[in-house]
Amino acid sequence: MEYLRNQHQDISTLSGVGVAAKASYSELGITTYSDLLLLSPRSWEDRSQVRPLGSLGDGQVANTLVEVLSHSYFGLKSGKKRTLKIIVRDASQQGDGRLSLLCFGRNFLEKTIRIGKLYYLYGSVSLHRGELQCSQFELYPATEDGDFPKQFGKILPIYPLRGSLSQRLIRSNMQAILSQVAHFEDELSEDLKQRYDLLPTDQAIRIYHDPPSLEALEQARKTLAFTELFYLQLVARRHKGLEQRSQAPGASTPSRLELACIEALPFALTRDQLASLKEIRQDLDSELPMNRLLQGDVGSGKTLVAWISALHVLGKGGQVAFMAPTELLARQHAESGFQLLSKLGIRLAFLTGSVKNKERKLLLQAIAEGEVDIIIGTHALFSKEVVFHNLSYVIIDEQHRFGVEQRLALLEKARVPDLLLMTATPIPRTLSLTVFGNLNISTLHTMPQGRKSIITHLVNEQSRKRMYQAVGVEFLRGHQAYFVYPRIDDSGESDLRDVLSMYEFLKGEYPSVPSALIHSKLDEEEKVSILKNYQEGKLGYLVSTSVVEVGIDIPNATCMIIEHAERFGLSALHQLRGRVGRSHLQSYCFLVFGNELTEEAKQRLKVMKESTDGFYIAEQDLLIRGPGELTGTRQSGYLKLIFASLTEDLHLIELVRNEADRILASDPGLLSAEHQRIRSVLSTAPPFEEEHSEA
Ligand code: ADP
Ligand code: MG
Repeated sequence: MEYLRNQHQDISTLSGVGVAAKASYSELGITTYSDLLLLSPRSWEDRSQVRPLGSLGDGQVANTLVEVLSHSYFGLKSGKKRTLKIIVRDASQQGDGRLSLLCFGRNFLEKTIRIGKLYYLYGSVSLHRGELQCSQFELYPATEDGDFPKQFGKILPIYPLRGSLSQRLIRSNMQAILSQVAHFEDELSEDLKQRYDLLPTDQAIRIYHDPPSLEALEQARKTLAFTELFYLQLVARRHKGLEQRSQAPGASTPSRLELACIEALPFALTRDQLASLKEIRQDLDSELPMNRLLQGDVGSGKTLVAWISALHVLGKGGQVAFMAPTELLARQHAESGFQLLSKLGIRLAFLTGSVKNKERKLLLQAIAEGEVDIIIGTHALFSKEVVFHNLSYVIIDEQHRFGVEQRLALLEKARVPDLLLMTATPIPRTLSLTVFGNLNISTLHTMPQGRKSIITHLVNEQSRKRMYQAVGVEFLRGHQAYFVYPRIDDSGESDLRDVLSMYEFLKGEYPSVPSALIHSKLDEEEKVSILKNYQEGKLGYLVSTSVVEVGIDIPNATCMIIEHAERFGLSALHQLRGRVGRSHLQSYCFLVFGNELTEEAKQRLKVMKESTDGFYIAEQDLLIRGPGELTGTRQSGYLKLIFASLTEDLHLIELVRNEADRILASDPGLLSAEHQRIRSVLSTAPPFEEEHSEA
């Protein structure tokens, strides 16, 4: 059966593809017919609509039938410097107007472009002293019978080029393939095509590379994008479905340790925390390794969920590694872990680069002999010297900070441990599955009870004074603040209010409030002791670079002041703001911005002002800057979408996911006759390969 993705013939069998073209194609990742069919044009040139000369202005594109009126020359009279100028008039039904074709380096056209004859012209024009001119143009003789020549009357795909490739070659190769394959099998059911107004695959791919109209092109693109996303979701969902079915139902009850820990909390867990714990517990009890993302806005209580879930594993005799992206955070987690768990008899250890010498040796030995239950640390946990006794559960905080390789390095330390990733930079729901494939997701949607929404103010130079007053009032109430700046000193751009000079300035503004400066160039011990003082309320405010960005949990801090807020990305701003609003106290965020804002910066500040919802902010972030950096790993590392766009096709993703769910709910094995087509595509020419986590 001929599918779009099983045309494995070598591209060099096509006429015109020699050694050079073959090499250039391979730079584009193209070696087979299928590869070429899946090459997406970077744009299309619309030559379907006649655009007569009379209607054109500077910079517009001419596309019409013309008659040649005269030839003349301009420039130096004698020798080779003269340039041919061909004057044409519009000869289409709709048109009038004249145009001068400037034939730089193409004086030979005098012989081929004949006076009195008709030609199709395409090119973009400019206006010079009232004369319409064009120097980059294509001319094709009009045929006797009045038909359009090959390159006209249609919409031409413009492909990305490499090396010796030309549009002409790619187009002719594409057409050759399309005529060699008589018919491409359909990849969607009649039902789906009908309900979503989609085309058969065969028609869609032919139109995509040779569209008769823009409307047809959009329908073709939508069909191909839908198909692509549909199979992606199907593969992702099916895998997830298999995983869930293999779980022993009802077998997951919390252990005595977990119950004791929950019992001892001074507050009740939120409903989402309980639900997430249940999901994690089921995964931990399943035979397949857990691969789960715990997402929840800053302060939603993820860390607590992680600790309690760790107890489930300890009950079964395994070891747990808990990793944080920075030493500061690791230390904070270690402290919260000790507070919560040591009274339950759990043995915790803290391992970072700063644990040295004898102490380190003893610690490593204890880990290797299984005398430690939970090891908390930074990526020092990855290093070769760390040997675990029985590592069965790995928790990674703020996963976007870790490279994929680091994660893999840790996974190599245990057969296949259960893995829980935590992130406060939520992936918009519509994308999470697409981007993460078979990762399961637990979400903390709601904040613990009694939290007040943070009030955000946008502050310009004129309102700066009022901001200082407002923060001063918070100090009088015994609350604390963070002042955050983008950089440490002014080596470089001098217009920045750098941390050091602002630190001095603030001392003058709040003479009786003790404060400290904290930035990434301080050594670790100093940072830790400053934070400790701050936590104990001995300091009223911290002046810092964005080191406070992640994780730090100080409930009494109620003010976050961010200078040059326009220089931070949305996710950083949201993280920073999340350092306050972590108790029942009303908190404030002040975003101080400079005068010259780019359009994007304006949008970011607006989003911050109007929402505190991490999901909404992540979704907006995506819309403002595209999905590229979203996950911290290049998105292309996860998947390559050819026809669909993550920014423009969000609504399709939603639709497609529902369809995939519906199908799998009724026929999880895709066994019914109705799903024969899907089975066949998946087994012979799948848009996405199924990944097997067992491998
Ligand atoms: P996250 O890791 O999601 O940013 P944390 O787990 O650090 O959030 O929790 C933030 C703060 O809220 C901590 O001080 C924690 O003890 C507290 N907290 C967690 N869960 C609850 C709850 N259900 N009710 C009240 N406070 C909670
Ligand atoms: Mg946290």
